[in-house]
Amino acid sequence: MIDQTFAVKKTIKGIAVSPGIIIGKARLVDRSRVKILYQYLITGDQLNRQVERFKEAIRATEEQLTMLKKRMPEQVNQHGFILDSCLMMLKDSMLNEATIQKILNEKINAEWALKKSLEEIRKVFELIDDEYISTRINDVENVTEKILRNLSGEEHESLAEINERVIIVAHDLSPADTTELNINMVMGFITDVGGRTSHTAIMAQALEIPAVVGLETATDFVADGDLLIVDGNTGDVIINPDDSDIIHYQEKQLQHEEYKSSIARKSHLPAITLDGRRIAVKGNIEFLEEVAAVKENGGDGIGLFRTEFLYLKSKGLPSEEELFQDYREMAEIISPDPVTIRTLDLGGDKFASDLEIAREMNPALGLRAIRFCLKEPKIFKSQLRAILRASIYGKVQLMFPMISGLQEILDAKEIVAEVKDELDSKKIEYDRDIAMGIMIEVPSAVTMAEVLAQHVDFFSIGTNDLIQYGLAIDRINEHVAYMYQPFHPAILRMIRHVVNAAKDAGIGVSLCGEMAGDPLCVAVLLGLGIEELSMNARAIPLVKKIIRSISVEEARAEFEKVMRLHTADEVRAHISDQMKRLVPELEEKGYLDA
Ligand code: PEP
Ligand code: MG
Repeated sequence: MIDQTFAVKKTIKGIAVSPGIIIGKARLVDRSRVKILYQYLITGDQLNRQVERFKEAIRATEEQLTMLKKRMPEQVNQHGFILDSCLMMLKDSMLNEATIQKILNEKINAEWALKKSLEEIRKVFELIDDEYISTRINDVENVTEKILRNLSGEEHESLAEINERVIIVAHDLSPADTTELNINMVMGFITDVGGRTSHTAIMAQALEIPAVVGLETATDFVADGDLLIVDGNTGDVIINPDDSDIIHYQEKQLQHEEYKSSIARKSHLPAITLDGRRIAVKGNIEFLEEVAAVKENGGDGIGLFRTEFLYLKSKGLPSEEELFQDYREMAEIISPDPVTIRTLDLGGDKFASDLEIAREMNPALGLRAIRFCLKEPKIFKSQLRAILRASIYGKVQLMFPMISGLQEILDAKEIVAEVKDELDSKKIEYDRDIAMGIMIEVPSAVTMAEVLAQHVDFFSIGTNDLIQYGLAIDRINEHVAYMYQPFHPAILRMIRHVVNAAKDAGIGVSLCGEMAGDPLCVAVLLGLGIEELSMNARAIPLVKKIIRSISVEEARAEFEKVMRLHTADEVRAHISDQMKRLVPELEEKGYLDA
């Protein structure tokens, strides 16, 4: 029982980063920094011992982070790059080599040397006049903290062990902490630090738990066991609420849940706009087990099956038979809806340890995707055979990633023709009319879209890479993440060009990047003329609901206005206003994060 007799009510406000309302007991977790009590001078052999201690602590930290990454909950494993960036920091020379040099040159203990390195890094970050980048120092501090804990042998309480329903209250949570959260127990969390773009915020959204960050002094006011109300839609947190607050928020909570379930209940209705246009809303998946989620959420098929998983998982290459069984099952389960199987997109940020892809300076610009497959026809053919063989078990479409020009399409189609001949000679059946399409995700393919459209059956616009290559923003580099702007007018113009080219040639065009599942983007994409969207399964119900609430004609008229704007911020603000007007409840329910 919580003794609230003397509890003092207090309301604080922070930044709402993940929607939903929770009422529950606070669990204060101590993420205070390790205190470095000793700084001492070291002499003789002991210096090498300090270097060894430091290296061991780095190794231990690396192992812990790698283990956390392996155990990441499924909902957040697409955010594994967050832990990768922590792992990269361990190798950073300003942290790693600089500390070793300090131990040796200044003859000081490892803890003290590490602290000095952190101070130097902090000074560099202070010079950066950009909020997003300067706040990334928190990530460096979190990593340093882990190394210090390994040096001191002091263990943090593991969040994985929390076994009662609580709301976590912490000064800060590192990305590693959030991957440990047991979401069956943790209702949500609040933190003193953090912002909209912090990794902790991204994780909360992926885990779908309400969160408020940037409260500054929450840990000063909240005691373990206090009753809390956390409103992840507005950023309000009430510590020790009174009865009327509890009743008020229970009602709000109920409304939010009802809204979510009303959307879910209608997810099986077709996505038809107010003016009668049917939009196909499909799911993106990486492995077979995800098909169920697409079906449950009312997806009209699989718009993008990323096939890298089996290659990344296996020791050595998966056999044609293994691939065939996987694709066949996929085609059967989703049937009569279609599945678009994309051929191997390895390289870039997706590496297979067993394939000999040379370590490249710029992997995203290197031997990736179709380039790799055309260089390795044996690997490519084995996958194509598996896809063609599976094509008679449902409605299968074939898609090539990262096409940059016509020659790659011609080369890929020639290999497909060879595989078809081989299957014919062995009297193995396949769908002779299998549709063949390409991802449009490289700017040169956008420019050449009219030509490419003459050679394929459909286009699928991959905005994740199109933004990366079009705006020259490394999609996994958090330092430039703030420039990763789907609403950049250049991106909208590129999409428009591709859609027009596809329509002129009479071929289908869909969009399967993250933009497809963003509630804010739906109207603009419809206004652009997109008639098929493919996204993360959990995004399907809300996107379908939005589609049912708007008319394509109106979206098109709005889109004309949007095209007269010249910066991403202006576009975003305009679209946000437009969505508030078209589907007012989206803002109330915290779905429009403008
Ligand atoms: C894309 O680039 O938008 C896309 C859907 O493909 P991936 O994220 O797998 O590169
Ligand atoms: Mg891509």
